[in-house]
Amino acid sequence: MTDDNETELSPSNPTNANSDSTGKSKKIRSSDSVESLTSTSELLMLAKDAVNNSEQYPIDFDQMVEFMEKVSGETDILVKQKLNQVQGVAAKLMGRCYTSTSHDAAGVIAGLPPLDLKTAEIACRKALKKKETHPYLHLEIRREDFDSPRHLRQYLELVTLDFWQHRWEHSEKGRVTYEFFPVVSETPRKEFTGGSSHVLTGHGNYMCHLHRIGKSETDECRECGVRDDPIHRLQRWALFEDEREALCRMLGTREVCVTEVPNCPLEVIASFGRDTLWGISATGKKQKQRLQLKFNK
Ligand SMILES: [Zn+2]
Repeated sequence: MTDDNETELSPSNPTNANSDSTGKSKKIRSSDSVESLTSTSELLMLAKDAVNNSEQYPIDFDQMVEFMEKVSGETDILVKQKLNQVQGVAAKLMGRCYTSTSHDAAGVIAGLPPLDLKTAEIACRKALKKKETHPYLHLEIRREDFDSPRHLRQYLELVTLDFWQHRWEHSEKGRVTYEFFPVVSETPRKEFTGGSSHVLTGHGNYMCHLHRIGKSETDECRECGVRDDPIHRLQRWALFEDEREALCRMLGTREVCVTEVPNCPLEVIASFGRDTLWGISATGKKQKQRLQLKFNK
């Protein structure tokens, strides 16, 4: 990619970013990354638009892909970090997650793979148009092993998914989200509400979250005395009996299977993130009275 300032995408010019997705009002440079990206997957366009339309992040997505051609693989930690920051921000914008949500979790919720992997994958595919072999991650990819560009693309996409899955399993971040999504998604999720994303990340109205951000001294549920996170509310807290019943009816199960929750209507998911300050279940009231009696003695 070159010096074509006139058509350069930027957050300050979202019109360009949009027209780019049709490929009509923008000069397409031969076999460039824009072309590759649109044909690679829709989800990258979503990320690209989210990034390019966000005034907070003045980053040109195409330039990143071009850069990855020069530093392919997982060699440059700083580049990798920067790219994944972009992916995290795009995923949070798409998923309406709180800013405190980890990039890893937001990416999995939005179905948006780590950009360092995705851009390296695209760079490898482009390189193999001109060369016989090119590295992708730890693999040496040989053009002759594939009978068509489509076959090559499918293979590289599978490798990307594999790596993403491996990272997700070994990440220390977003472990609440991991309970809901143990397997990374092959397709993007497109519809979100803030409420449902807060439940799926545990970043919201939960003691575990308030404790994490320093707004509470404890992460425990005031009724049950165990960690208050979305899983606790879905499976155990009596205060959420009605919501739980509705959810189980919908799932056709007697107990809540956490990995099935993301498939439920978003408003049903969101109901588990409701404010609990004024509601205490009957069991909780008794428990609280007992505690008060004990305390007053
Ligand atoms: Zn509880």
